[in-house]
Amino acid sequence: MELTSLTDLLDLQGIDLQIDRLLDQRQSLPELEEYRAVHEALQAKETEREVAAGELKQVELELDKAEGELELLELKLEEHETRLFAGGMSGRETEHMRLEVQSLKGQRGALEEKVLAFLESVDPARETLSAIESEIRSLEADKDRLETSIKTQWKAIDAELARKEERKKEALEPIDAEMLDLYEKLRGIKEGVAVASYDHGVCGGCHMALSPAEQDEAFADELPRCVHCRRILVA
Ligand SMILES: [Zn+2]
Repeated sequence: MELTSLTDLLDLQGIDLQIDRLLDQRQSLPELEEYRAVHEALQAKETEREVAAGELKQVELELDKAEGELELLELKLEEHETRLFAGGMSGRETEHMRLEVQSLKGQRGALEEKVLAFLESVDPARETLSAIESEIRSLEADKDRLETSIKTQWKAIDAELARKEERKKEALEPIDAEMLDLYEKLRGIKEGVAVASYDHGVCGGCHMALSPAEQDEAFADELPRCVHCRRILVA
């Protein structure tokens, strides 16, 4: 194999590492982690909102029901009192009616207390729901802001990646298929670095020194490989 082709391979390696870095940068933006946290918080708040809305609805229904009962009871009471005022009933009927009015008044008092209690719990329930909704709006704003930031950064990274991919296409041209296979295989098992420069007796991949004998052995091969890490060496 020609030495020039090894230099080409080192160029390819340089571009591939730049692409790897960009891909890593794309997936490790701090905003991505923040986004995930905000998304989770938002989901939790939405569940809270559902519960709070359910509780408010329950209190409102109970209040409606109690108010309806109170209204009916007052109508009945009015009817009875009107009849009592109108007179014309037997003494027994009158007594019965009077007792009935008394009982209705007792029931009214209890119902009024019930309505009051529901009224008192409606406001806090509304406030709870409204506080949760305000937190949700704030989280949604955070999410939007992060989304915009991520998209902007991704756009810049993707543009850079496209440029590198173009350069990679050119860099691939002079490299034969067999060499490329080995290169890809080594990249897969050697943390992305298949080709290392060999400088002053040291492998640029594993940073270990080769003795003169090891160097002779490595470079006797048409494809020099580091005796320690097996990466392709380019002197
Ligand atoms: Zn090495």
